[in-house]
Amino acid sequence: MSTATRTKLAVIGDPIAHSLSPALHQFLIDYFHLPFSYESRRVLPEALPSVFAELRRGYRGVNVTIPHKQVILPLLDELSENAHATGAVNTVVFDEAVAYGENTDVAGFLQMMHLGGISLRGREVLVLGAGGAARAVIFALQQAGVSRIFVCNRSAPRLSDCESWMAAAIGVKYEIWLWHQLHERLLERRPEIIINATSAGMHPNVDESPLASRMLSPEATVVDLVYNPLPTKLLREARQAGARTVHGLNMLIVQGVASMEYWCGNHLEVEPALPAVQKTLLSKLASHV
Ligand code: NAP
Repeated sequence: MSTATRTKLAVIGDPIAHSLSPALHQFLIDYFHLPFSYESRRVLPEALPSVFAELRRGYRGVNVTIPHKQVILPLLDELSENAHATGAVNTVVFDEAVAYGENTDVAGFLQMMHLGGISLRGREVLVLGAGGAARAVIFALQQAGVSRIFVCNRSAPRLSDCESWMAAAIGVKYEIWLWHQLHERLLERRPEIIINATSAGMHPNVDESPLASRMLSPEATVVDLVYNPLPTKLLREARQAGARTVHGLNMLIVQGVASMEYWCGNHLEVEPALPAVQKTLLSKLASHV
């Protein structure tokens, strides 16, 4: 099927019922009058190769979410630099002959920071977490020219994997902190920006925060990738401490817009529509809880 006649899009993952991607992409399809339909498909790990073969025959593209973001890599013909470096793909584009993988979380994170008015160049930044989102953030921070990255994660094995990956993929100075060292190192190093790339505080664990409130101060900007709930406990406490805060909903939106730009082949100017798309997603979130 030729690329021009491909109009079907999907998000694949498991679980998938609570994904915000269908609501986000339907908004974009309507707002930009795009000739696509978008569906969500629950794909169990063992079904991924056969579903992928079916999708590549007739779909224009897919978003990929947990648990397929890493394991899908061998099925793809080409990877972007971001996908290759982070080892994760959240967007696939199908042309007649080629299945191309991209990780739009990298650009999504940078655009979220830009929209929040936070400059990264030359800054010292703490990343909490060492999973897929943390790697996308770390790679993005390098692209943005930060001066030093501190990485701290609850489990030592995942932190050690992330350290090995950073040694190979990251050229910026970095330090690795064990979880029990977090508060002591924070007081010593005083990073200017703190980014939560863990799932701590995410619905239903809304009373969790990765950082004790006494560690928050007006000096450090606090960013939370978690967008359900809004604000998270971490961001509420950071605001109470007088800190500038950035929530993760805009990252979700702009990484989705970046996927759509790959599929439709045009730049999509989403900034004027941000309040409307935020409202759509917040009402979707409210209907989930
Ligand atoms: P992942 O690969 O499964 O990694 C999860 C990370 O969270 C691990 O580092 C894990 O540490 C840590 N963690 C989980 N529960 C914790 C807790 N109670 N306290 C401290 N650390 C905890 O997941 P991911 O893909 O990186 O996603 C992480 C979060 O980012 C999710 O909440 C996701 O929704 C969010 N996210 C948001 C966007 C966006 O567009 N805004 C994009 C991507 C991801 P251990 O190693 O100790 O288990």
